[in-house]
Amino acid sequence: MQDVPKIVLKRLQETSAAGTHPDADLLTAFAEQSLAESERAQVMDHLARCSDCREVLALALPAMELVAVAASTRPGRSRWFTWPVLGWGVAAASWGAGRGVCDMSVSLRHDGTALVSCGTQDIGTGTYTVLAQVVSDKTGIPVDKVDVVLGDSSLPPGPTSGGSTATATILPAAIDGTNAAVKVVLTVASSIKGLPFQNGDDPPPLVMTAGRVHIKGEPPANGVPYGEILRMANLASARGDGRSGGLGADPRSRDYSTHSFGAQFVEVEWDPGIARMRVSRVVSVVDGGRIINKRTATNQMAGAIVMGVGMGLFEETIYDPRSGHPINDNFADYIVPTIADAPQIDVHFLDIPDFLLNEYGARGIGEIGLAGIAPAITAAVYHATGVRVRELPVRIEDLLGAHVSA
Ligand SMILES: [Zn+2]
Repeated sequence: MQDVPKIVLKRLQETSAAGTHPDADLLTAFAEQSLAESERAQVMDHLARCSDCREVLALALPAMELVAVAASTRPGRSRWFTWPVLGWGVAAASWGAGRGVCDMSVSLRHDGTALVSCGTQDIGTGTYTVLAQVVSDKTGIPVDKVDVVLGDSSLPPGPTSGGSTATATILPAAIDGTNAAVKVVLTVASSIKGLPFQNGDDPPPLVMTAGRVHIKGEPPANGVPYGEILRMANLASARGDGRSGGLGADPRSRDYSTHSFGAQFVEVEWDPGIARMRVSRVVSVVDGGRIINKRTATNQMAGAIVMGVGMGLFEETIYDPRSGHPINDNFADYIVPTIADAPQIDVHFLDIPDFLLNEYGARGIGEIGLAGIAPAITAAVYHATGVRVRELPVRIEDLLGAHVSA
């Protein structure tokens, strides 16, 4: 007799009560594998037609056990589950959120464009885009008029791309540099004669919004474009140097632990006929603080999930015991997922800002999309096959014991 979790018993009762399904007692007996011979035909005929009942029963038994039970209890008509067998797994994820040291130079130019430069790099995660967005947001200069220059060691020093820290690190420096450049523009503006906000004995406080310098509290339309102000002062640009310290330099970091969190849901398809296991669907729900750019963030999560599929099903470095040299040290022998191995991916962000890290509340993402994928895969593999695999990657050899006596 198989133990059936209480929550599943409850679901069986609800399902049974909800429509033209067998009695809850019969479904429970099936889940416990204690169904009387005389009642088998009735239950099996129903299960062959009813995916609702099969779905609830799949919560009680790994899918392959369910198939085995069905096969053993229904001679001659064994497989009312169509191949492949589905398995579901879930895992929680957590990854520390850090912030490093960064310098940044921001120039607001007389032609209405801006230049941001930093010695960090964009490895395809959207650093260029995020920097342009932030400077645009702070100044009102359109995103397509913000030039971002990265990847040169002659530029102000910036962080590496690693540990999910790049975005959280560059943002404060970019904000600091932008504020400094705007301050230069405002200082220049208050020294020029003939502007609507002519400086007198008591010059009004100025601000810059929507790319225009104006009196604080008045609409930007009453002001003057910052490029015009620079041209009147014969200046090519106003430059601000930004700097931000790491988390370790922040006294609040002694009182708080900063992490991102997530939940990874995986579906696998197991075809015992040809011993094929593949990840078919992944739903990833992530709290990575405020998401600055949903498109680049979603794509980064998708890449991390495919890496997780590699960790779960494919990747392993094999060492030569005599020399310690990696044997599969090339892309012909080291197996990584291809496009054909990539599952259907669905990414959701909670988008809750974490203001401990920076003004925008962005934590930076990367690893949080990978953490939890391999464990969720092994849980789904267990659900599909009844085999618990505790070493990665899951190999076909691990699953060959999962037979169905059809
Ligand atoms: Zn039913």
